[in-house]
Order: sequence, then structure tokens, then C-alpha cells
Amino acid sequence: MTTDLAKFAKDNGVKYFMISFTDLFGGQRAKLVPAQAIADMQEDGAGFAGFATWLDMTPAHPDMLAVPDPSSVIQLPWKPEVAWVAANCVMEGEDVAQAPRNVLRRLVDEAADMGLHVKTGVEAEFFLLTPEGDQVSDPFDNAEKPCYDQQAVMRRYDVVREICDYMLELGWGPYQNDHEDANGQFEMNWEFDDSLKTADKHSFFKFMTKSVAEKHGFRATFMPKPIEGLTGNGCHAHVSVWDAPGEAATTNVFAGEGEGQTGELGLSEQGKFFLGGIMKHASALAAITNPTVNSYKRINAPRTMSGATWAPNTVTWTGNNRTHMVRVPGPGRFELRLPDGAANPYLLQAVIIAAGLSGIRSKADPGKRYDIDMYAEGHTVRGAPKLPLNMLDAIREYDSDTELKEAMGDAFSASYIKMKMQEWTSFVTHFSQWEKDNTLDI
Ligand code: ADP
Ligand code: MG
Ligand code: MG
Ligand code: MG
Ligand code: MG
Repeated sequence: MTTDLAKFAKDNGVKYFMISFTDLFGGQRAKLVPAQAIADMQEDGAGFAGFATWLDMTPAHPDMLAVPDPSSVIQLPWKPEVAWVAANCVMEGEDVAQAPRNVLRRLVDEAADMGLHVKTGVEAEFFLLTPEGDQVSDPFDNAEKPCYDQQAVMRRYDVVREICDYMLELGWGPYQNDHEDANGQFEMNWEFDDSLKTADKHSFFKFMTKSVAEKHGFRATFMPKPIEGLTGNGCHAHVSVWDAPGEAATTNVFAGEGEGQTGELGLSEQGKFFLGGIMKHASALAAITNPTVNSYKRINAPRTMSGATWAPNTVTWTGNNRTHMVRVPGPGRFELRLPDGAANPYLLQAVIIAAGLSGIRSKADPGKRYDIDMYAEGHTVRGAPKLPLNMLDAIREYDSDTELKEAMGDAFSASYIKMKMQEWTSFVTHFSQWEKDNTLDI
């Protein structure tokens, strides 16, 4: 049954709805709509000028309408008079093809047509910085190996606890919080869900974490490599595929039959093919999982202060070993360690499904599994592709992968490549101190 948002407001004391959509660069855009006006907006959507956001539109385009998906509504736990609701972008009665939530919805439907339902969990790491964003907020958080630092996590208990309490309240099933591998870095984990639900939660988690951090006088950032020399913000995605969506799911298709140990490392044939698709399209899908200039300072990075970057350099997979792009931590799922904190929550899920389905359709072989320490012995691996070294390489890889472009939608792919090339041009036309330092006296 569809949630009636006007009734939801009355029942829960909501005064304003935040009708929110995500643009191609992952920015969350919203209008605040008073509860009195929500009934019409639920029907027709809230109007936006698409050109004013990153959606590859012109000022001459007609109004874009963001139509709330009432099943996604969340009352802000830190400001209960406001409720956030994810919206789908519509123009002249049609879904906007390049809008990220629409891209994901289309792929979820495509998987469902094949009888497949992708469930994922994300690990959205973040830093707590000073309000200006230039330093770790806690001056005492300076250990060489700060991972799981008991003292440092307790110095930020008020922030971490508040966010975790809210996730408990929202029924997300949070189960652990820790200080991560960089000074000032944290990770909070909650239970996996259907990919669209995870994408909505991931978006809301970023909004909530930034909001709570601000309230406490800090700046939360998901930037892939906010501080040179320290481990960056990953956003690993754990993936499994089921026979039905939501709670109707009973069988993990990736675990195969019986004890779930039928295939290599407990991955079924379907699981291997899906993984094969991820491996095959990895260099291209990096344009989406690692979408910014800064993303390439996290992958392919020199060793960090803690001793390891925990980010991949090469397209390889393995068992329970964190030095490869894909890790199979246990039967019935795999972990893609490539994505970073800048990944668009919707496009991240969409590209996993797009690559995975292409793998299933073509019965893609994931190739040889390497059970080695990639950081120490990576040079011994012959023939595994290196991940793109920068954003331009990644965009070019994406542009030359016609199968992936088509699976993501040709209209989406054209818009994405165009916007990202504009961003790259803006970056390379920016003059840097490095150029002066290295060229002035030539
Ligand atoms: P690690 O740090 O070892 O990679 P975490 O515990 O931080 O793992 O995160 C694991 C994520 O994977 C969580 O979101 C969890 O709910 C999710 N997960 C666990 N099992 C599955 C599964 N079968 N399918 C998809 N996601 C899963
Ligand atoms: Mg106006
Ligand atoms: Mg983790
Ligand atoms: Mg982590
Ligand atoms: Mg992980």
C-alpha cells in the first residue's frame, strides 16, 4: 500500500517534507515543502530547473518534476518536524533517463525480469575534520596505526553514538562502529538490503552524518583522499543475489545449492558469472565507482602512514584477503573494494548490477584467483589489468566499453561522459603550484 504523505505528516507531527533527488555528480538537491502542500506534490512532484543542477540539461528545458517515492520517507531523527523523501525525476511525463535513481530503478527491473534480486551493503567511511575541512578535528588522534583506537573513538563518542542511535531508531540494523585506518577516520556498519533501499539509506547516511557532525562543530567528509599520506575513504560494496526482493527472499542465488559451498569459495556458478562481469568491466566501471579527480589519489596510491592503503591497484580477486579489488569473505557474497566515498549511491548500485548482469548473460569467467599479498607480490601477477591511473583514463575506458554503456543506458552514458569531461577540462585548465615548482627554471 502506498504511504499517504499527508496522513504521514498528520500522524507523525511532520511540518515540512524535503523532496530530494541526486544529480549525476552525487549532489543531493531538495525543496522544503510544507505538509499542507504535500498531497499535490505527491501526485505531481516538485518543480526544478534541471540546468541548475548536474543533469546535462539546458536553461531552455521544461521544468523537471521530482516525484516523491513515498516508500522511502524518513523522518529526520535529529529534527522530527522534517521528513526526507527520495524522488524520481520526471520531465513531460517521462522518467529523466540520466537521473541516477531512474538508472538504478531500470536496472533493478531488468534484474527482476531475469528472476534476480541484488542485495548489497555499503561501508561508507568518513573523516571528522575541523569545520574548515583542512585538519583532523582531534589533535590527539595522531597514532601511526590508528585503526580501532579505543581512546580516539571515545573522544568522538558523542557523534558516533548519536548517528548509531538514529540508525537503531530507523530500524537499519546497525551492528558496529569503529575508528578506521586513518587519523580522524570512522566507519559505521548497518545491515544490507535490496539495492535501491541501500542506495536510499546510503544517501541518507551521508546527509545524516554531515548534519550530526556539523551540529557538534565538525566537518564530516566522504572525500576519497582528504589528507595526503593517510588511508582514504573507501565505500566497499558487498553483493549477493537472491530469488526474491525484500523479506520474501529465501535463497541466496550466489550461495548455490545445499550447504552453499557448491562452487569455489562458496560462490555458485551464477555468482561466478556475475563476478566475471565485474572483472570484465572493472576499468570502465571505475569511472562511476571512482568518479572524481581525487579518487585516483586513493587507488594506485603509495603506501600510507599506517603501512597499507587498503585500496586496490589491479583488477584481481581472491578469498578472505583485503589486498585485491574483489574479496570473497565467505560463501554467497563478494566484496567490491574499488568504490570510494565520492561514488554516487545510485550509480554505484546501478553499475554493479549492469556489469553483473552482463557477466551472467555472457557467462563471463572471473579469471584466475590470486591468494597472494597484492601489495608485496603484485608484480608477480602477469596479465591482470591495472586500474585507471586518473579520471580521464577512467572516462575513456568507460567510453570504449560499449556493452557497459548500453547496459547503463545510452542516454545516461552520453550525459555522464559529457559532464565528467567538462569536469576534467576544468581540472586540467587550473594552474597549480606543482607546475611552477617543476617548470619555472626549465
Ligand atoms: P568488512 O569490513 O569485513 O568488509 P563490514 O562488516 O564492515 O565488512 O561490512 C559488511 C557489509 O556487508 C554490511 O553492510 C553487511 O550487512 C553486508 N553483508 C553481509 N552479508 C551480505 C550479503 N549476503 N549480501 C550483501 N551484503 C552483505
Ligand atoms: Mg524561482
Ligand atoms: Mg568494514
Ligand atoms: Mg573500512
Ligand atoms: Mg570492507
